[in-house]
Amino acid sequence: MAKRDYYEVLGISKGASEAEIKKAYRKLALKYHPDKNPDDASAEEKFKEAAEAYEVLSNAEKKQRYDQFGHDGMRGGQGFGGGGMNMDDIFSQFGDIFGGAFGGGFGGGGGARRSTRIKGSNLRIKVKLTLEEIANGAVKKVKVFKLVQAEGVEYSSCGTCGGAGQVRRVTNTILGQMQTTSTCPTCHGAGKSVKSKPKDADENGLKREEEVISIDIPAGVEEGMQLNMSGKGNAGPFGGVPGDLLVVIEEVEHDELKRNGKNLHYELYLNFVDVALGCSAEIPLVSGKAKIKVEAGTQSGKIVRLRGKGLPAVQSYGHGDLLVNINVWTPQNLSSEEKAILEKLKDSDNFKPQPTHRDKGFFQRVKEMFS
Ligand SMILES: [Zn+2]
Repeated sequence: MAKRDYYEVLGISKGASEAEIKKAYRKLALKYHPDKNPDDASAEEKFKEAAEAYEVLSNAEKKQRYDQFGHDGMRGGQGFGGGGMNMDDIFSQFGDIFGGAFGGGFGGGGGARRSTRIKGSNLRIKVKLTLEEIANGAVKKVKVFKLVQAEGVEYSSCGTCGGAGQVRRVTNTILGQMQTTSTCPTCHGAGKSVKSKPKDADENGLKREEEVISIDIPAGVEEGMQLNMSGKGNAGPFGGVPGDLLVVIEEVEHDELKRNGKNLHYELYLNFVDVALGCSAEIPLVSGKAKIKVEAGTQSGKIVRLRGKGLPAVQSYGHGDLLVNINVWTPQNLSSEEKAILEKLKDSDNFKPQPTHRDKGFFQRVKEMFS
């Protein structure tokens, strides 16, 4: 929708003085104030439109830019990059225009503050991901059963606070009368109450409904991480802001690969003939397989590093590695024939252990791998 001319919005001419601009806005703000027009969306629109027009025309610099370039000149300006002002901005500018006397005119309650928009509660769900989904990122569709605004609910001003969202209490103390303002206990600050509602709505005019939400999960997430989807939780009562949807990540354990941050770990078992003679071995990857060459004479405990075959880092660049730990399998339950062959080899000098790699120790080798 094209934006209306700001002068037209306020009903003034281009040559209007500062005082005339202020007066015109004051009149419109009073007429379309949400407290006077509860649940009237078109009044709220006009209220916002007037506030935006005033925000620009009351500021010499912005006004000049607007006079010269029109709405195009306002793009990228602070506070209203095309989306208009939010209610908090609008009410915060009221102090200047109404001299703090505004609140008294509306509602029975308290000072210049207006009723607050209550935030809906957060929803929490768990999403299970396979290692493959973690490696590539995933879009998960989940069903949530959440509170939404029910249709056909009628609201009225809260009877306790008269719509102000706050109540004022005067108490007598030894220092004289003390006045305190607190959030209305009946409406919790919303300033409204439900006048009539359909059967399936709760006392706040909300009902539970199933919704399928699509969640974009970035690659590299970890067990226990929580993604926060702002505004996808339960609706806020009385036209408040919706809560958030908190998505907790759960990992489905992989059959063969273990995870350590962005690195993966695989235990490879080879028989001692293969490591003695050299062989090639197949290593499972998150997707697909890789082949590695095992040199003749490889010792048990050797770690082979497959660079970049781990997982992507969730909040930075780069991939982890896949670390293959080579284990030499000692044969069990040998037949007498096999025993006879091994007995023949046993006394060969080449079969005498020479544990050279042990002098560094396991943790030193791991440290060297990772640094
Ligand atoms: Zn109230």
